[in-house]
Amino acid sequence: MTNSIPADSYRHQGLRKLLVQTISQKGITDQQVLAAIEKVPRHFFFDSSFLEYAYEDKPFSIGAGQTISQPFTVAFQSELLHIKKNDKVLEIGTGSGYQACILAELGAKVFTIERQKSLFDKTSKFLPVIGYHTIKTFFGDGYKGLAAYAPFDKVIVTAAAPFIPDALLEQLKPGGILVIPVGANDVQIMTTVTKNSDNTLEKKEYGAFRFVPMLENKAKEK
Ligand code: SAH
Repeated sequence: MTNSIPADSYRHQGLRKLLVQTISQKGITDQQVLAAIEKVPRHFFFDSSFLEYAYEDKPFSIGAGQTISQPFTVAFQSELLHIKKNDKVLEIGTGSGYQACILAELGAKVFTIERQKSLFDKTSKFLPVIGYHTIKTFFGDGYKGLAAYAPFDKVIVTAAAPFIPDALLEQLKPGGILVIPVGANDVQIMTTVTKNSDNTLEKKEYGAFRFVPMLENKAKEK
């Protein structure tokens, strides 16, 4: 990441079109999600020495032991959220900010929490530089959600959760959807919980994914 806007060349745009083809062949059908992936320059979130990896459908290390999620996974979680324009969306695990930008492109008002101070600082500064002024970033513990701004239409967790935190369910509006990869070991099951209008919860599962762990208790200073 840099402090000035990196270039988005025809070559990068071409690589994004190919990436969109790849993830649609893997089963992503939501045209708005595909358009958002085509629009957001994923290479902006990479250090220049690793640019050639930006448009592979793979996760990649972003420092501080964390990763930018695989494009297919970002698209899959985004599709499950069924974002409508002006939905208030809470993201747990800001990381590079890439997923937050995809949600913003889908018309969401994004609130995103990161527990690693170094990543929080870097991403909070960077998002406005690349034009995403409306994404609200918070340093804190995602297990607690963001009570001051609740309720949310949608909640997305982008780290492996050993269980579904109660606070996130409480902060969901009736009719809202939580998307969360659940599992304490190597593999997580992508799970949605929908809150019905009578506040009952409905859970569905969507297969195995791999995420870095959602760490508990306190936000980390370094
Ligand atoms: N959405 C990110 C993917 C980040 S990887 C992107 O698009 O790049 C998961 C992130 O979750 C990491 O940055 C990690 O530090 C963060 N994280 C882990 N546990 C957390 C918690 N309890 N609260 C908030 N963030 C957390």
